[in-house]
Amino acid sequence: MIIKTIKELDAQLAPYRNEGKTIGFVPTMGFLHEGHLSLIRRAKAENDIVVVSDFVNPTQFAPNEDFESYPRDIVRDEELATSAGADFIFHPSVSEIYPEGSSTFVEVEGDITKVLCGESRPSHFKGVTTVVAILFNIVKANKAYFGQKDAQQVAVLLQMVRDLHMNIELVVCPIIREEDGLAMSSRNTYLSDEARKQSVVLNQSLLLAEGVFNNGENSTNKLIKIIADKINEMPLAEIDYVSIYDYPSLKVITKINQQALAAVAVKFGNTRLIDNIILKRI
Ligand code: AMP
Repeated sequence: MIIKTIKELDAQLAPYRNEGKTIGFVPTMGFLHEGHLSLIRRAKAENDIVVVSDFVNPTQFAPNEDFESYPRDIVRDEELATSAGADFIFHPSVSEIYPEGSSTFVEVEGDITKVLCGESRPSHFKGVTTVVAILFNIVKANKAYFGQKDAQQVAVLLQMVRDLHMNIELVVCPIIREEDGLAMSSRNTYLSDEARKQSVVLNQSLLLAEGVFNNGENSTNKLIKIIADKINEMPLAEIDYVSIYDYPSLKVITKINQQALAAVAVKFGNTRLIDNIILKRI
């Protein structure tokens, strides 16, 4: 069921809240794919009621980014989300979330929001933390579900929940991929046929580095070079970043001890894709 207003969502959820039912929340920007659906299924398995938000959040897009053209299809989304176990699809207008006169932002400061995607998208995480905080206040869920696909987003949100003593548990779910390894993303629809073929290099380069890491290589510089060289084999790929940081602190490291995040952002024309892998000593 699609719900457009906070008032209506409150009315729908009230009986469940009164009965002490648990609510799982899956925030999305819509144009759902298997990645989103895996979060919804997990939420349904762990909660009585599942709320999915379907909201393209303007505050996390810079003026030169794809807010206007971001793909949207609420009819299809409702069908997919419901079949995966969603009870309510919260699909508010921009003015429902940011009524005229709203002027409060939530911002996680420090390197965690400045490195990786924060470097080329300096206002992005401020928009993400603001909308997620607003949505958490609206939905009042017990648990919220996020994908490891957006590894930095997970790190930033964990920090926000800790710092603001928010009473919600974050559940992090694995990256869902196409058969050839490309991480699923609503933005994959922007890719030309040739770019789509070449985009498999993101996952391939990370797996290559993981293999070398598993054979004992600890140097972040060496692993970064292996990833970058592999990506550069593809003529349409233009690297935004290839980085390795401690995870989830996102502190700079030169050697990997226990666990690190290897993350890449690569542009194919105007389409910017991200992917990552956790490198872990077992
Ligand atoms: P988005 O609609 O892109 O904002 O994504 C909504 C949620 O789905 C975020 O928590 C993402 O990390 C998650 N997500 C997106 N793509 C994937 C994927 N391929 N695998 C797992 N989770 C994903």
